[in-house]
Amino acid sequence: EGGMSIRDVGMVYRRGEQVTTALVGCNLEIPAGNWASLIGASGCGKSTLLRILADIVKPTSGTALIGGVSPAEARAARTYALVSQQSTMLPWRKILANVELGLEVAGVDKADRRRRAEEAIELVGLKGFEQAFPSELSGGMRQRAAIARALTLKPRFLLMDEPFGALDEITREKLNFELLRILKETSATLLLVTHSISEAIILSDTVAVMSPRPGRISHRVEIGFGHD
Ligand code: ADP
Ligand code: ADP
Repeated sequence: EGGMSIRDVGMVYRRGEQVTTALVGCNLEIPAGNWASLIGASGCGKSTLLRILADIVKPTSGTALIGGVSPAEARAARTYALVSQQSTMLPWRKILANVELGLEVAGVDKADRRRRAEEAIELVGLKGFEQAFPSELSGGMRQRAAIARALTLKPRFLLMDEPFGALDEITREKLNFELLRILKETSATLLLVTHSISEAIILSDTVAVMSPRPGRISHRVEIGFGHD
């Protein structure tokens, strides 16, 4: 099966004259079934690492593997899902139609799509809001809808970049416990990027710490609560 791995990855961004070295000699192994968090100072390269795994950017050097294959192959096989801070909901579509979006793109037929979207909506606690428009929901509820959308494809890998980053601390804490409950129902391997140490500890088996830019993993801490 395989988990996720980052092997000797380097990342240099070039924009005209400006050269930014984001990652140097970065290594991280996340075994299948593990929930890992990645923490570190702002700008150290956490999102870059996640975006490499999600096939949004290509590393300048080194290898990224997700389920034993390259991010591009994993993307084609739809084995992972990405949830970010500002996960976009199409404003003109109702929540149900937004949650169905991934399944629609994957070519799943309408009846199956409906059933799987409704299941995911229930799992994130949004039952009753299927016919609401995104603008009618709070920020926390929209993020939960984004998580529902990510779960519909039953991804083996979940990549989350500050999923509740735009929300206040109390809402965040509440949603973290909800996310924990949801994760227990999936067998996904998780990589969560966060700037919150408490969030990392609540939600993961392993906390990886990234050193300041150019980033590389400097520490790995096993939390050891176990999640089953
Ligand atoms: P973090 O997620 O830890 O805050 P990022 O991965 O977003 O860090 O950024 C790491 C470094 O790379 C920062 O210095 C940032 O300015 C730079 N960077 C990120 N994305 C780009 C980009 N698309 N173009 C140029 N520089 C970038
Ligand atoms: P935010 O995090 O943006 O405040 P919450 O998820 O905490 O959003 O929800 C905000 C409000 O929306 C809640 O106080 C509640 O009244 C309502 N709400 C949220 N989820 C549900 C639900 N499943 N059923 C009914 N009302 C809900």
